[in-house]
Amino acid sequence: MTTNAMSAPTRPEPATVGEPAARLPCLITAAPHVPVPTLRTPTATAHAAGTVLVAVIGPPGAGKSTVVRALAATFGVPVFRLREAVRARPELLAGLPPTRDPLGWVGLEAVRRLLHATFVQGRLGVGCSAVLLDNFPGTAGQLALLAEIGEATHAAVALLELRADALTAAVRVGRRRVCPVCGPDPHAPAVPATDDPARCGSCRAVLARRDTDVPRLHALRLDRYTANRSEIADSAAERGIPHLVVNADATMSEVCRAAHHALSRLTGSPESSGSRP
Ligand SMILES: [Zn+2]
Repeated sequence: MTTNAMSAPTRPEPATVGEPAARLPCLITAAPHVPVPTLRTPTATAHAAGTVLVAVIGPPGAGKSTVVRALAATFGVPVFRLREAVRARPELLAGLPPTRDPLGWVGLEAVRRLLHATFVQGRLGVGCSAVLLDNFPGTAGQLALLAEIGEATHAAVALLELRADALTAAVRVGRRRVCPVCGPDPHAPAVPATDDPARCGSCRAVLARRDTDVPRLHALRLDRYTANRSEIADSAAERGIPHLVVNADATMSEVCRAAHHALSRLTGSPESSGSRP
């Protein structure tokens, strides 16, 4: 199914925060080239204060949800999750064919409408130093749409990549559990009870696997990420989008610390001063 070619990178590697990252196996599979619709909203000037739209990507199990949640709490910045936007605004998908994607991914036109509604009309992130985009973009085409949103709202775009090797990711996915009761985000990692790790520490409900962590779907998500990661990185480089890599093969507290440092650099907040490699 997968043929992991340990290819040499085709361009200079982005700056890595933390320990040197293990090389991500590069499965160079061309992502489908879908024409990117044009988005022009000349009146939008929402992000004059210098908001950075920080796209957080990484393989499933790299710790994106945990890191994004920690960064959002620390920096007090909002989070964009495409799946939540789809759930919140189903009317925006009117007239589009229903997705037949096994992972539930929506097409580029749906993404374009959701981004526009969220950032241009909804002005998400106005007055904030950053907006964190959890697990977005999934493709280079989605990155192009995000770049258009950045232009339309005068926000900068940056890429924050969590890089974890396959073993780290598999172990995390195998271990992680969510609480089906506590919500509201069914992807939020649960905090187990100290006396019974199988139960939620808050409500004592029996913890469950994320629906997308079943082995078949996990393999599909990992394949898709691996297939798209290089094009996203190349597209970011071509667009001059800053790209920082956090080595996610460490403990989650170390990963969060490195990600905190990376976000400080991307947003130019004081913590980053004097720490350029
Ligand atoms: Zn609970």
